[in-house]
Amino acid sequence: MQKNGQNEERKSRLLACAKQNRAGCGRLLPLRLAAAAVLAAALLALFGCSAKETEVSETFFVMDTVASLRLIGDKEQAESLLEQAAALAQELEARWSRTLPDSSIDRLNAGETVVLDQETAALLAQAAALSVETGGAFTPTVSPLVELWNIGEADSPPSREEIAALLPLPSPDFLAQARAGQPFSLPEGCRLDLGGVAKGEAANRICVLLRESSLRGALLVLGGQVSCVGTRADGEPWRIALRDPDGQQGETLAELRLTDLHIATSGDYERYLDFEGVRYCHILDPETGWPPETDLRSVTVVSSDGARADGLSTALFVMGLEPSLAFWREAGDFEAVFVTSDRRVIATEGLADCLSFSNGAGGYRFEFTA
Ligand code: ADP
Ligand code: MG
Repeated sequence: MQKNGQNEERKSRLLACAKQNRAGCGRLLPLRLAAAAVLAAALLALFGCSAKETEVSETFFVMDTVASLRLIGDKEQAESLLEQAAALAQELEARWSRTLPDSSIDRLNAGETVVLDQETAALLAQAAALSVETGGAFTPTVSPLVELWNIGEADSPPSREEIAALLPLPSPDFLAQARAGQPFSLPEGCRLDLGGVAKGEAANRICVLLRESSLRGALLVLGGQVSCVGTRADGEPWRIALRDPDGQQGETLAELRLTDLHIATSGDYERYLDFEGVRYCHILDPETGWPPETDLRSVTVVSSDGARADGLSTALFVMGLEPSLAFWREAGDFEAVFVTSDRRVIATEGLADCLSFSNGAGGYRFEFTA
């Protein structure tokens, strides 16, 4: 009962905040459209925006976070897509949530054999691949630890003994065997948590729906996950601001101008427990069972694949700055922005043309890295 009460309270707090500032609770905040009227008029002419084109938007609660969707295009089509997108998000949550009773993940975690649908099988296989690629920094079998820490509900950390009893975590390699239409079950003692990739994959699926339409553009925010499709009404790229982890008033550290990409941020400032002067965040180091002793406050990943952006932001946060930069150089298929504990903001050079730094709450040093 108390847990439900707290959830309800959190939900209404987040929604109230979102209403104040559209996606004001997300770590990545889409900036309000601020183009000068003259410029906007010129661009409208240039891009032949039809008089019928309009913006339709909605804020809703899904996957334990505030979601918002802005669609630019024909009003009727946009309204219909808004409904379809929100329904799809709910539907995917109903399959992938660890906490919703009867989700595919809940049933697998309860020891049941489940015939996998295509989307779930693909997500499990991708989670396994990400785990291998990140050397286990991303580990979807982290569920027993997540349950033990219960960040957001618990008022103290678990004991060293309780944590040690859950280690080592079972390897998630078996997930590579997941096949659509096939029965699947988890090895004894293994429980899944897809919280590090589910929002990103939901964003992928929703964007497929949006791209199939004739909309000019769309911006989807799912908590720390932002996806942009096409352009704004004025034909310009979408603008996405990165929040200062220390900013009390939502100050920002950088602005990205992007089209058709996914942006995911993981950090220590959204879900955490402050206990006796120590901050414990909701991302855990699968090796130690504790929140990572990282030199990072947040990691933002930009990728053409939402699930990859989501999973990598979680993994790089665990790895820390230098290993993350080495990983980025090796991978070559994503870009990133790191905010460090010693107040540096480091962006990878692929973002040079579409990122501008801003001062946040102050005292930051900014650089691009190669
Ligand atoms: P959020 O989902 O809050 O935006 P993340 O994408 O970084 O943030 O995912 C964090 C979630 O992922 C946690 O709430 C937990 O469910 C799960 N998780 C925590 N640590 C790990 C990890 N090392 N590997 C995989 N999943 C993790
Ligand atoms: Mg993630």
